[in-house]
Amino acid sequence: MKADKKAAFGWIDANKDRLIDLSDKIWEFAELGLVEFKSSALLADELEKHGFKVERGVSGMPTAFVASWGKGKPGIGLLGEYDALPGLSQKSVPHEEPLEAGKPGHGCGHNIYGTSALGAAVAVKRAMEKSGLRGTIKFFGCPAEENYSGKVYMVRDCCFDGVDAVLGHHPGSMNAASLRSSLAIVSARFHFYGKAAHAGGAPEQGRSALDAVELMNVGVNFLREHVIQDARIHYIVEKGGFQPNIVPPYARSWYYVRAPERHEVEFIYDWVVDIAKGAAMMTRTELKVEVEAGIYNLMPNRTLAEVIVKNMREIGLPKYSKAELEFAAEVAKTIPREEKVTALKKTKRPGWERLVDKLLDDEVPDPWGDGDYMHGSTDVADVSWKAPTVEFYTSTWVLGTPGHSWQNVAQGRVGLGHKSLLFSAKVMAGAALDLLADEKLVAKAREEHRRRLGSKKYKSPLAADSKPPLDAWNK
Ligand SMILES: [Zn+2]
Repeated sequence: MKADKKAAFGWIDANKDRLIDLSDKIWEFAELGLVEFKSSALLADELEKHGFKVERGVSGMPTAFVASWGKGKPGIGLLGEYDALPGLSQKSVPHEEPLEAGKPGHGCGHNIYGTSALGAAVAVKRAMEKSGLRGTIKFFGCPAEENYSGKVYMVRDCCFDGVDAVLGHHPGSMNAASLRSSLAIVSARFHFYGKAAHAGGAPEQGRSALDAVELMNVGVNFLREHVIQDARIHYIVEKGGFQPNIVPPYARSWYYVRAPERHEVEFIYDWVVDIAKGAAMMTRTELKVEVEAGIYNLMPNRTLAEVIVKNMREIGLPKYSKAELEFAAEVAKTIPREEKVTALKKTKRPGWERLVDKLLDDEVPDPWGDGDYMHGSTDVADVSWKAPTVEFYTSTWVLGTPGHSWQNVAQGRVGLGHKSLLFSAKVMAGAALDLLADEKLVAKAREEHRRRLGSKKYKSPLAADSKPPLDAWNK
């Protein structure tokens, strides 16, 4: 049966103001991971209004939900995210100016990530109703991508079972369905407990937890020489004591350890824990390690990436108004040319040199980068071990825009972001309809997934009884 893409795209065009409004509202809410109460409710309510059956609070997270519509196979999953980043508050203007200094902002464009998938979900439902196409659409409302990896809990709790293919859209600087993987990660907090004492009068009675944090950092910084090239280790000190005349009785650091494969990240992480134990021993403090999250490396899928690229080309890239291009040009002035060149080169996109003098990506390249890595991590990776998955990007930010920056926030709530939202919703809807209409295509994606998986097994990086840290922001 043929997919009625016109009905889907027509629905997105007819409802574009509503979709933009949803995305802008989530941008304004700018809620942090696991406390995206207003943002998740907005999307869940909207899907319910359109006839989706919504299950809220899945996997012990009040802001996680699954919205389903349809019956039987294939099951197509669409990913939605809606968490913001701390400290990145920014107005939608082309210069750095916080809306409210120190407050969160959508520095990764997840206001669009949630809404593009919603637009696609409802548009696909419309097209299925018109054409009689069968299958199930599942919108996964996934909290806390940026820090507590909501999807990993959802994967552990079998939310993605029975889904044949998963599509996700992330705002980006490029139009791309890349085949590059991401790094696996362990996120852990190191709590050190010492003994308070007057730092001037009786230091010999104190045991400094801050000393332990510092010595651990020194040890880990020496470890860097002996880890594989693609590994990444970074940390912050969250608590370092009260004031200098009190020997700090409690101090805490937060570490991310990343590497291309799960076993590599675990090897390095175990070494980091040994260093922490050594630091505790050196300072006669007590150590408690708390694993906050663990995620896998992304398993790409060429079959799905090619479906995305085909749809991007069929639909055609958005055209920008003079005002939008002027806004983009102003933002571009804040990005040094050498930084832009480095950013483009790092993507390893064939022909990236052509983009150096461009403001916005105006091409749709073939999928590239199989076997290569980006050095970030995403919990989409864990989903990709369960079912064939593609997370594609559409041009939202001027080329060279750094990730997690004020420039990301600024561009997410103006024409550039809005056009990316509507374009990506159509691309996702088109790709979902291609899959629904062609069981051979779904089988091909699944076969590729099986081949890539080989003898590897997914074992949740979370303990069976570990719960999402719902109180993390109060610590
Ligand atoms: Zn993101």
